[in-house]
Amino acid sequence: MARLVLKFGGTSVGDTERIKNVARKVKQEVDAGHQVAVVVSAMSGVTNQLVEYCRSIAKIYDAREYDAVVASGEQVTSGLLAIALQELGVPARSWQGWQIPIITDDVHAKARIERIDTTEIVRRMEESGEVAVCAGFQGVSLRNRISTLGRGGSDTSAVALAAALKADRCDIYTDVDGVYTTDPRIVTKARKIPRITYEEMLEMASLGAKVLQTRSVEMAMKHRVRVQVLSTFEPAPGSDYPGTLVVDEDEIVEQELVSGIAYSRDEAKITLVGVADHPGVAARIFGPLTDAAINVDMIVQNVSEDGKTTDMTFTVGKTDLDRAVQVLEKAKEELNFRKLSSDANVVKVSVIGVGMRSHAGVAQRMFKALADRGINIQVISTSEIKVSVLIAEDYTELALRALHTAYGLDKA
Ligand code: ASP
Ligand code: MG
Repeated sequence: MARLVLKFGGTSVGDTERIKNVARKVKQEVDAGHQVAVVVSAMSGVTNQLVEYCRSIAKIYDAREYDAVVASGEQVTSGLLAIALQELGVPARSWQGWQIPIITDDVHAKARIERIDTTEIVRRMEESGEVAVCAGFQGVSLRNRISTLGRGGSDTSAVALAAALKADRCDIYTDVDGVYTTDPRIVTKARKIPRITYEEMLEMASLGAKVLQTRSVEMAMKHRVRVQVLSTFEPAPGSDYPGTLVVDEDEIVEQELVSGIAYSRDEAKITLVGVADHPGVAARIFGPLTDAAINVDMIVQNVSEDGKTTDMTFTVGKTDLDRAVQVLEKAKEELNFRKLSSDANVVKVSVIGVGMRSHAGVAQRMFKALADRGINIQVISTSEIKVSVLIAEDYTELALRALHTAYGLDKA
């Protein structure tokens, strides 16, 4: 007997037929003798619609009321799944965030979970095998208001609940059957990764792979929750783990040099030309951006020819570009640069793998593969287990295919 948390995403509970399908999946685990808690998202499209309602009334709205509105989608699906389970003879009860409770801070619309009191759902699980059907995405703030965890937050609800329940595994059911070496819509040879480390998954998620919310992976890593990503729509084949397992490094026998290639079109590039080259300049440039809550990601400072001025290139989120340009132009006099240019037609492509720690030449192979295709690299950044480059957006597909081949990921 194991204790499992099963999470079902928006498409998995997209209509009542699908909710009945989910109930059958849950019943299988219950029939196998497991203790089960379920976390559900809202029906696909519903949260977007709810967000839209808020926006159509006010451009800037009270985040506490936004949370009251957007949390309602999960209330519906948790109730419906509990009914569907009861129809199959499985004892089940729905739980909203405030009922469990899942206590969060009061940063509305992107709250963080502080603690979860699982006493009551564990008692019911143990005494009568009742399935707890929990509304994902939501909690209750210390000030007793409904809170939500940011878009995609029900992944985090599920992992946090699994940690609190000391569950043996957290299965994240979605519309893809696992985590892929890269986007299979672009690279037909992309393959499902059977096992991936927390560190790699964290990089993949934060560098653009959209399967799991980044925070949920941080949470899984911190609490060592075994997470599996798998499809709701494919009947589980013979293998124990049909999806992708996110686990500790020592659970992975054969480690590839590069495990995955992620990309993000959400970046934009800014170059400040002719900036004075002396101490304190970088601090002066990034100060106003920080004050405006604009995150800077990749940064390069070119060496100046005359030793007096330099060019500074960096990236910001695409949605922050206009604001960033505005902030910098306003500080132009003080920052003393000659010209500002910006480019939103860029993509950040990253190769990720813990194998990099112990192997040289990983970055070089990336640069060569791109050079062979005539793709110009605009900015580079690296960490222990990833190399990211910024290139023209038009080359996204070509770059992904070239890199997938270059790192030997095409093989069947
Ligand atoms: N329903 C929420 C959203 O669409 C939370 C989630 O599905 O994870 O962002
Ligand atoms: Mg999601």
